[in-house]
Amino acid sequence: MHLQKRVLVTGGAGFLGSHLCERLLEMGHDVLCVDNFYTGTKGNIVHLLNNPFFELHRHDITFPLFVEVDQIYNMACPASPVHYQNDPVQTTKVCVHGSINMLGLAKRLKARILQASTSEVYGDPTVHPQTEDYRGNVNPIGPRSCYDEGKRCAETLFFDYRRQHKLSIKVARIFNTYGPRMHPNDGRVVSNFVVQALLHKPLTVFGDGSQTRSFCYVDDMVEGLIRLMESPEDVTGPINLGNPDEFTILELAELVLELTGSRSEIRFEPLPKDDPVRRRPDITRARQLLGWSPTVPLREGLRKTIDYFDDFLRERGLTGDVSQAERKSSAGF
Ligand code: NAD
Ligand code: UDP
Ligand code: UDP
Repeated sequence: MHLQKRVLVTGGAGFLGSHLCERLLEMGHDVLCVDNFYTGTKGNIVHLLNNPFFELHRHDITFPLFVEVDQIYNMACPASPVHYQNDPVQTTKVCVHGSINMLGLAKRLKARILQASTSEVYGDPTVHPQTEDYRGNVNPIGPRSCYDEGKRCAETLFFDYRRQHKLSIKVARIFNTYGPRMHPNDGRVVSNFVVQALLHKPLTVFGDGSQTRSFCYVDDMVEGLIRLMESPEDVTGPINLGNPDEFTILELAELVLELTGSRSEIRFEPLPKDDPVRRRPDITRARQLLGWSPTVPLREGLRKTIDYFDDFLRERGLTGDVSQAERKSSAGF
């Protein structure tokens, strides 16, 4: 039984944030969700609005925020390349100004604060799998830099606030995470492939599809974030959270085709600039310090994600012509 805490989740109307709010409420906490709806939606949290322990505040964290809470999860930041490159200056501002404001808030309140950092701090890694002490291979002036360097600077701020102001900090380096409530148009590979397959449109594989990623199901990620927040004071991170099972993008495309029973073909398109070739977390630290490792295999997580997008598309009258029953039987549900 956890003591009820007042917990602020910035970016709480986004993909990860909304699942986190849900879990924190289930644990009995009092949750304040702050979001400017840049990429998040009310639809992601509408089911929580009747809960008296859930509060929604529309606010942009690049501006100061004065509230009273015990813990802060700083999740606010567009996360997909399409979204974070849409307004790159704003992306750096969210990472830097947003973090300064949330750290200032944590400092005034003596509250514990967790930063949603990213595997992108490793850039296009030359060390494989990535351990936390690897310093990364990041282009400071490319199209991904607003995000990568923004998140790196945020980590610097977190550790300087700890050194300078003795703040209680936690830094999670999140690797590719997927699941229900991903934005259908944010260009991330899992949502793209699932939506394309359900609509029987070609699956767009960038490059030859030999680049790898490791995909973590959202419930596992939320569990990891909460364990990190609740870990002893000296466990600051940075700590990798992700699923170490590595797949090529072509393997992912084939698995999505199999599970959806789709008739889509695979279409090869040019690889975007600075697209990392390989990515897989070394999660030894998370295992040792948090007793955490992912439990949901890709196949199972994809099924839940496919179900979500299937309903999502149907509700909007957008759907391929294979019935749900047909798809489920062909995919062995
Ligand atoms: P998301 O885009 O679904 O969620 C981000 C949320 O932040 C959205 O609700 C958006 O409206 C909100 N937001 C953006 N700018 C804001 C601002 N200035 N003020 C207030 N709210 C703002 O993305 P996500 O996948 O849920 O990612 C959440 C966090 O996790 C991000 O910080 C992201 O960098 C990090 N992360 C995610 C992944 C992943 O695979 N999903 C991987 C690594 C890191
Ligand atoms: N801040 C905030 N809420 C608070 C306290 C601070 O948004 O409750 C912001 C504040 O506007 C400032 C930033 O956090 O710009 C950093 O605060 P800090 O106290 O570290 O720095 P200072 O105020 O001395 O610049
Ligand atoms: N990708 C792809 N087709 C798509 C979207 C992405 O082949 O429709 C590739 C992309 O080039 C990258 C990988 O899938 O190699 C993961 O891309 P995503 O944008 O999901 O995440 P990130 O690059 O940030 O890991």
